[in-house]
Amino acid sequence: MEATTPGEAAEPTQQPGQDAPQEPPKESPEEADADGEPSDDEMARESLSLEVVWKGTERYPLKVPKYATVLSIKALLEELTEVESEGQKLLGLVKGRLPRDADTLADLGVQDGTRVRLVGTRTDDRLRTRESSWQDHDSDAPAIPDNPAADAGKAESGEEHQVVSVDVRDKLDTIIRSAEVRIMNPPRPGRKLVVLDLDYTLFDCKNMSGNIVEMARPGLHEFLAAVYPYYDLIVWSQTKWHVVECKITLLGMVAHPNYKITTALDISTMFTVRSIRSGRPVDHQVKALEFIWAWFPGIYTHSNTIHIDDLGRNFALNRQNGLKIRPYKRADSRGRADTELYRLTRYMLAIARLPTLEFLDHSQWCTHR
Ligand SMILES: [Mg+2]
Repeated sequence: MEATTPGEAAEPTQQPGQDAPQEPPKESPEEADADGEPSDDEMARESLSLEVVWKGTERYPLKVPKYATVLSIKALLEELTEVESEGQKLLGLVKGRLPRDADTLADLGVQDGTRVRLVGTRTDDRLRTRESSWQDHDSDAPAIPDNPAADAGKAESGEEHQVVSVDVRDKLDTIIRSAEVRIMNPPRPGRKLVVLDLDYTLFDCKNMSGNIVEMARPGLHEFLAAVYPYYDLIVWSQTKWHVVECKITLLGMVAHPNYKITTALDISTMFTVRSIRSGRPVDHQVKALEFIWAWFPGIYTHSNTIHIDDLGRNFALNRQNGLKIRPYKRADSRGRADTELYRLTRYMLAIARLPTLEFLDHSQWCTHR
């Protein structure tokens, strides 16, 4: 994946403010290139359990696909331990030497149940501002409700963050100039854009004792494949790039035959603003869609972008574009009954052919007819 510069991400074939064409896109999910990668079902079947021991006493059970790389294991461990992956050593994966980051567990012949010793020191101030920790207490919507039917719509009614920062433009310009964007697949002019949060929106990131594939929100791949003919897909997660890359790779989102991710954005493309919520000032990070619109001028615009996130504050600067989804936090139990992505598919397809999305109130998505 190659980093590029703002405006060079794609040839601008559409001017800002122009509407997306009403013709349904010709490409169907089935026409996307199949690359022979294992399906998510195959990945789930071919997983290995590892027990990682850190500092002699802290134990982290992991269940990961056999083709997970050493680097992806380190990225998961970084989330769990806050030990930077660059400073980690994993002892016991292979005898007599340290494995290379690009080695897969299958390459190394790692056996199920292998005990691994992690050597590394936590960096105290690492990602102090990130939201995507394994214990995210700041979500302002309930997880899976006891009675989904009775609670339908409530998750979207949370209080809004009113941004009061006066330096938003300066911060945005700085981020646009300095951030790296890795284009995974070229944008498709004429399509709308869906920006997707990752943690708790597309998968339950709270623990790794289950295979990450099994932590995917029910209907994840079906949702992405269903909307892909009409929407380009950008993932935006408040964590470091290699962790984002690890997660979407292990989830099977990078090599899926039925959809393609345009790019994944990390914490370096976010910045802090001050908002007023419930009468009190709150400093928090935002995902400013202007960043994407600057990088893909004329292709993705205010009128064709929708941002799906379980944290409403993330779209505090672009509230009209935001669609709040209930956080998915129970992959290990009742979460399997979660139907959010199936219902969201119906909404996304219902609005897919509108000439513009700028007059929609996405807070009513649950009851949209
Ligand atoms: Mg989230």
